[in-house]
Amino acid sequence: MSGLEKLVLPKEFPYAYETHLHTNQASACAKCTGAEMARACKEAGYTGIIVTDHFFYGNTCVDRNLPWSEWVEAFCKGYEDAKREGDKIGLQVFFGWEAAYNATEFLINGLSKEWLLAHPEVRDCTIEEQFDLVHAAGGIVVHCHPYRVEDYIPEVRLFPEYEDAVEVVNATHSCILSTSHNTPEWDDMAKEYALKHNKPVTSGSDIHSVNLIYGGMAFKKKLTDSKDYCKAIMEREPAVLLSGNETADGREPYYPSYVK
Ligand SMILES: [Zn+2]
Ligand SMILES: [Zn+2]
Repeated sequence: MSGLEKLVLPKEFPYAYETHLHTNQASACAKCTGAEMARACKEAGYTGIIVTDHFFYGNTCVDRNLPWSEWVEAFCKGYEDAKREGDKIGLQVFFGWEAAYNATEFLINGLSKEWLLAHPEVRDCTIEEQFDLVHAAGGIVVHCHPYRVEDYIPEVRLFPEYEDAVEVVNATHSCILSTSHNTPEWDDMAKEYALKHNKPVTSGSDIHSVNLIYGGMAFKKKLTDSKDYCKAIMEREPAVLLSGNETADGREPYYPSYVK
């Protein structure tokens, strides 16, 4: 084993999920395969991961000229690779994606490859239509890193009426181990935004390689599948939000207001 640091979790929250993770099989900016990501997360002590590669108008490495069904098959390779490995080593692997609208990004959870194949209209739908489409199938839309501004994200755009939940901790912003986007204030602003609009909250690392930064969400109960994750978020199940600093330097995780 490579001697990765083990996640540090509060005793009553033993089931940790990495909810925001990229693979190099579908994300142009990622460095490792789904199988490599699965092995690293298992070794670090995660119970599960959600593969959220960059979708069609995001930083995908899948050829946009492919017919839809071939595009979807290629897009799902990172997830499927992670899932195969996860089944072998005992790590839950759920499917999701990160949709982009002029660099305003949303994590979509609770849907499947089969759903994507049957719904080519999701590719070019508006943010409003995305909300309806995803809901009609029982999924959820999570606005991730809503306050991040970088060269590739020219402005903050908020859509409280078209998002179910808000990613209020993104470990690339907050964790001292992160080598990009290091601006914890963006997470503080996201927490305020979620409170103001009474939105459920999520937390993820936005990890692009096996150099883990130990973010994610830890629950009291093990989740069963990606729909169960959606239910846990929407029903505000007790969870702690990991910034990565719990492992890096022993700080307390963030407890959403509805947990304590
Ligand atoms: Zn990326
Ligand atoms: Zn991401």
